[in-house]
Amino acid sequence: MDAMRHRLYVCPGYVLAANGICQLFQGCAGPNGYMRLSYRHPVSGQVTSTTAHRAAVMVARGCLGLPPHLDASHLCHNKACILPTHISLEPREVNCQRRGCITAGQCFGHAPFPDCLLHLKI
Ligand SMILES: [Zn+2]
Ligand SMILES: [Zn+2]
Repeated sequence: MDAMRHRLYVCPGYVLAANGICQLFQGCAGPNGYMRLSYRHPVSGQVTSTTAHRAAVMVARGCLGLPPHLDASHLCHNKACILPTHISLEPREVNCQRRGCITAGQCFGHAPFPDCLLHLKI
């Protein structure tokens, strides 16, 4: 967990986005545009990998076991953002609805999950 926190926040760490709020992870992006971090699972001992924003939620919660059926979705829609308050754990359908918000340029609401932060999209 400490190693993961170190990579997210220290080396390679993040840069503050142009909007002054989002924390953009500086690792290298995978084919889908998401940054991945590999880590050794403390219980199974196996090396596995996860997306940087999912890792940020793990570090914020102090828990490596996030429900696998829930997507870590970006409220700010910036794929590299690792600010835990911009990431919502929610069902895939909700994550898909958010794409509609980007297209429409306004958030239609996702109760009980938080609204998109479209004004932060860079
Ligand atoms: Zn953000
Ligand atoms: Zn929305």
